[in-house]
This record gives sequence, structure tokens and C-alpha cells, in this order.
Amino acid sequence: MPFSLLKYGLRDDYPFEKDADLPKPTDLKRHYDVVIVGGGGHGVATAYYLAKYHGITNVAILEKGYLGGGNTARNTAVIRSNYLTPEGVKFYTESVKLFKGLSNEFDFNIMYSRRGQLTLAHTDSAIRAFRQRAEINRHFGGDTELIDPQQIRELVPTLNMNPGDLPVLAGLWHKDGATARHDAVAWGYAKGATQRGVELHQLTEVTGFEVENNTVRAVKTNRGTVQCGCVVQAVAGHSSLLAAKAGFRMPILTYPLQAMVTQPVKPFLNPLVSSPALHCYVQQTGRGELVFGGGSDPYPLYNTRSTLDLKESLLAHAVELFPFMANLRLMRQWTGLTDMTSDYSPIMGLSPVDNYYLDAGWGTWGFKATPICGWTMAQLVASGGKVPELIEPFAMERFRSFRQVNEMGATAASH
Ligand code: FAD
Repeated sequence: MPFSLLKYGLRDDYPFEKDADLPKPTDLKRHYDVVIVGGGGHGVATAYYLAKYHGITNVAILEKGYLGGGNTARNTAVIRSNYLTPEGVKFYTESVKLFKGLSNEFDFNIMYSRRGQLTLAHTDSAIRAFRQRAEINRHFGGDTELIDPQQIRELVPTLNMNPGDLPVLAGLWHKDGATARHDAVAWGYAKGATQRGVELHQLTEVTGFEVENNTVRAVKTNRGTVQCGCVVQAVAGHSSLLAAKAGFRMPILTYPLQAMVTQPVKPFLNPLVSSPALHCYVQQTGRGELVFGGGSDPYPLYNTRSTLDLKESLLAHAVELFPFMANLRLMRQWTGLTDMTSDYSPIMGLSPVDNYYLDAGWGTWGFKATPICGWTMAQLVASGGKVPELIEPFAMERFRSFRQVNEMGATAASH
């Protein structure tokens, strides 16, 4: 038996446990240079890059629940960059690059696993759209190609090639498709930020703002009011609600989005598989469970209950894709809140209130963007409001000037 195994097996003091702890809660200070609302992946990533790369550490992250307990904890962890628009592909490609180096950056294993993502085409028009996506992806440095049914059979031998009488005609094979542990991503960023002096305040709800001369001056919370130099809003499924407290409206509707997981089985599925026509995507986790999800619920709602309707329709489609799944037990079903924009792209950058910055509109697609959101939002804050080129196309203003970035086709049931 290796010596270290024996040594740690016989004592109850594990050095790595101390390391994993976040600092104990403190009182709120009277003033912070930056207040980040939302302790999900995006909020803590922004704090991390501010502290590590810009030396800005008088920062408070205010989280009404617990670290990473919102959509960060509820997503199915699909990471990919095979979008449709040049703006989207450039943005998500940078995020995937950051993801690849994140375990080293943190010295903390986020269990990044590059598996490839396969999106199935069941119609000629889907093939045309996939061909266009493959070209745009390759142009901007992505690794995506159109593959034929024989190549699909070799990649995923257990796939039914005629699910629901929709023959699989081709596939968009995106080699950079990946997954990572979502909680590890949030914890890695939070640890790195708090070790550098950032304060993370859990159970601290933002209830309003003090705005003078159209500039945000202070943040009101359930634990008192704090003065601030600027605010970053990173609250995912609550974006319109928080913006309303700051005095402006956002072009967002909020829909529930559900996902499910089965009991673990022997590893059989390496790639992530998605069928937009069947509204279903499936992947196998490192533990052997099958995680699957589909489209948002068909009505705007602020409620995280799971429904029997969705369970029935999604399971039927999953079993069409992988018939042997009929024998598996479903272990859990859950729901998050997704803030949907009409063009399926985020809203990032400036807001109508000065010094109040937006990281919003993350709908069903924001986990994969966590690193690049943190990186670009930190640049925006550190520069005092100069919008980084990469996120310029995602300004809220685009909905007035008809410069939408339409990612609808590249988002459907692939997340
Ligand atoms: P969150 O993690 O939601 O963090 C926001 C935080 O703000 C929350 O913790 C909340 O408690 C807090 N908050 C809200 N209001 C206040 C307030 N007033 N005061 C203080 N705190 C407040 N994306 C992908 O890229 N790939 C996927 O496979 C994928 N699958 C998904 C599956 C499901 C079922 C769901 C629901 C989403 C999925 N997403 C996916 C989307 C992804 O989860 C989100 O876009 C992403 O997690 C957003 O991260 P965030 O840090 O902005 O938000």
C-alpha cells in the first residue's frame, strides 16, 4: 500500500480539506469598489478575473442563496462553440479555450472532459443549416464538420438511426464539445477570488439600488445598504426583476427549463448527442448516469417545479434515440429559470444606468460562457466602462437598432 494512503487513512486531518474552505462570513463593509449581484458561475468568475488580472479586490459578491445554487447547479454542463453567427462562434470559442486551461489555472480539478458533440440532422434543410455552421465554425478556429450516417454509426453504435420515424441523414460533429463539473467551476472561481481578498456574502439578497443623476451609488440588501463604485448584475433567471429595481426594463421573458438524470450504467456513450427535431439531448456523465434535457417549458413562469408533461414527452424522445434506456430508472428531475432573449443571444455590457453593468440573457446556454463572461465583464469593469470588442455585439441597444444576433437555430435542444 502506498505510504501516503496509509498515512492519511490513519488520521482525520486532511490537508486538502482546509484548502477547500471558503473564508468565514463577515459583516458587510460600508463601501465596495465593485458589487457583483449573483454568486453563480458568472458572478464569481468576474470577481476572480478582477482580482487576479486587474488587482481589483475591494469587491463584494452578494448572493441571495448559496454559492452556485442557481442555474449553475441546475445545468447539464454542455460546453461547445458550434454556434451559427460569427459573433457567437468567436465568443464561445474563446470560452472553450479558457475552459481547457481552467483546472491548471485553479490548481483544482474541474473534471473538464472533451467528448465531442454530435447534433443529428433529420431533414435536408437541417443539413444545409449544419453545413453553414460547420463552415463558420472552421473559419473562426472551431473544429466542426458534417458527417454521414456511417460515421455516426461508428461514433455512437447504440443510437437508433430512425428515431420516431425521422431518419438520421447526417450529423454536425463538433470535436470541441465537452462537459465539466459545474459546481467545481463555481468553487474554483470562488476560491481563487476570495483568496485574493474578494468577499462572498451568501444569504444576502439585493432588494434595491440608490441611483442619483442616473448613476448607481448604493446597493440595498436584507443586511443593510452598501455604497459602491459600480454594480455588475449577474443573476441569470432574475435579470428583469433586478433591472426593475434599478429602474429599467429588459427585453427578456423567463421560462422554466427542466432536465433529468437516470441511474448509472456501464460507460457506453462518449459524445454528447442532440436531436433538435426530437427536442432532446443526452450525455453520459463520468459516473455513468445519463443526463438529458430538451426545450424550455412553453410558457413564461417564475417557478422551479418539475412537470409530468415534460417527463413523458422527453422520456419518449430519449427512448426513441436510445431504445435500451426504456429499462433504466429515472433518479431525479429538476428545473431552473432561463432568461430568454428573442434572438437567443446574451445581453452584455452597458445598461441605461451609469456604472451598472449587465451580464444577462443567458437563457439555456450560459454555463459554457462562464469563463469568457468573467473575463470580459472584468475587463469592462476595470476599464471604467469600455466595452470589450468580443461582447460589443451583445449590447442591449441592439434590440432598438435591429442588430440582433440570431442564434435560434444553433441553440435548439443542444444547450
Ligand atoms: P446563476 O448560476 O443562476 O447565478 C445567479 C445567482 O443570482 C443565483 O445564485 C441567484 O440566487 C442570485 N440572485 C438572483 N437574484 C438575486 C438578488 N436579488 N440578490 C442576490 N442574489 C440574487 N448552459 C450551458 O451552457 N450548457 C448547458 O448544458 C445548459 N443546460 C441547462 C440546463 C438547465 C436545466 C438549465 C436551467 C440551464 C442550463 N444552461 C446551460 C444555462 C445555464 O445554467 C445558465 O445560463 C448559467 O448557469 C448562468 O450562470 P449565472 O452565473 O449567470 O447564473
